[in-house]
Amino acid sequence: MSANLASVAYIAATILFILSLGGLSNPETSRRGNFYGIVGMTIAVLATVFGPRVTLAGIPYIVGALLVGGSIGLYAAKKVQMTQMPELVALMHSLVGLAACLVGFASYVDTSIVLVGAEKTIHEVEIYIGILIGAVTFSGSVIAFGKLSGKIGGKPLLLPARHWLNLAGLLGVIWFGAQFLNAHDINSGMLPLAVMTVIALLFGVHMVMAIGGADMPVVVSMLNSYSGWAAAATGFMLSNDLLIVVGALVGSSGAILSYIMCRAMNRNFISVIAGGFGTGGGTTPAAAGAEPAGEVTAISAVETAELLRDAKNVIIVPGYGMAVAQAQHTVYEITKHLREKGVNVRFGIHPVAGRMPGHMNVLLAEAKVPYDIVFEMDELNDDFPNTDVSMVIGANDIVNPAAEDDPTSPIAGMPVLQVWKSKTSIVMKRSMASGYAGVDNPLFYKENNRMLFGDAKKMLDEVLVALKS
Ligand code: NDP
Repeated sequence: MSANLASVAYIAATILFILSLGGLSNPETSRRGNFYGIVGMTIAVLATVFGPRVTLAGIPYIVGALLVGGSIGLYAAKKVQMTQMPELVALMHSLVGLAACLVGFASYVDTSIVLVGAEKTIHEVEIYIGILIGAVTFSGSVIAFGKLSGKIGGKPLLLPARHWLNLAGLLGVIWFGAQFLNAHDINSGMLPLAVMTVIALLFGVHMVMAIGGADMPVVVSMLNSYSGWAAAATGFMLSNDLLIVVGALVGSSGAILSYIMCRAMNRNFISVIAGGFGTGGGTTPAAAGAEPAGEVTAISAVETAELLRDAKNVIIVPGYGMAVAQAQHTVYEITKHLREKGVNVRFGIHPVAGRMPGHMNVLLAEAKVPYDIVFEMDELNDDFPNTDVSMVIGANDIVNPAAEDDPTSPIAGMPVLQVWKSKTSIVMKRSMASGYAGVDNPLFYKENNRMLFGDAKKMLDEVLVALKS
């Protein structure tokens, strides 16, 4: 393939990636967006493999690597459960970081590139920054994978003088950067480069370990952004325009997502990165001594069906538990049934519900819930006082009134869906265990709240049977 044809293919791929991002911004166009992305990536890979910079002798290696990588990707995508998607995404981000590091070291030791003067310095700066971003992305994403999969607890690790440690790391990176740029040959440059890589890896670990459970969404989107910048840095090292553009697209869209997540959680981006918000994690029981405690009122599936049947306005608030139970299809069956009976059913989606951005929207779209009854938190939070029944399905942190009432709560200040303002709220979960942030939920003890204990799918199946009988 000639250089011109490869450039045209790259431009086509760039346009497709931009269209893809545009499509992904709305659930109704997201399938098309995904399709554009697939076509764009296919063109990009073909134009690179058969482009002017790959010799014929190199193609078998590339095809071999594609087969191995492609098979692993295919296997992982087929095998992964919907609830494991966030971990898989974190793992994918780590691979982008690792690739940036490997490309950085390979470019540095590549003797076929002979540069002098300013060009040499620019190339070395690209390598240094590329490896720096890549290493932070790699180790940070591996820790995020551990936290999201529950292999590492959600409790923030707060080392004494952690901010000073970070500052020392930053100064070290700058100092070794100067050593690296002043090095006369590869041998003397390798040491500062390697030391910086170790500092960057440790910084990635430290940064994500210091972040509490409730702030993980910001970290996930931030690592998404980092992986984009790591790819862009790789593009600079390889002088590949497409990689630069695509990396910048991912990096900036990830940064916008981080901003949206921070706003959703009423957090300051810098303080999230500095770490220390949120406590506990996973499905640990509510901390002893944590505020309210008291009596909870349990309800049966049949009684739930009666309340729903008598209601005029119902709001359903899904959370991570709906994903675990895979209850979205039954949720839709119930919704359909109630709507046929003239009940106004709407869904309230919290921006950080579940374990990845847009998690609930994906599940509801899969179950074919119409988009026009799915609302964002802000669109519907004022409607709870006029709502007869709020049904909370496997959600916990996102409906926790302590976020509003208790300034000492680890999730204080995070906007939540005010389900307790409706006439009756029903919380469906298996036990009294806390959510991802590891904090007790005073909602459970409110007078107008009922607890429907059990697996969300099983209980909703029972509710549906009762509704239909
Ligand atoms: P939570 O983690 O707060 O609560 C989920 C609840 O679901 C649990 O309390 C659990 O209780 C219940 N549950 C689990 N399995 C089932 C089941 N099979 N049937 C019924 N219930 C079940 O989830 P939310 O969606 O309310 O909040 C999301 C949390 O995750 C926030 O803290 C957010 O910050 C964090 N997070 C979000 C990310 C994102 O990008 N969206 C990324 C990373 C973290 P029980 O065990 O008693 O059943």
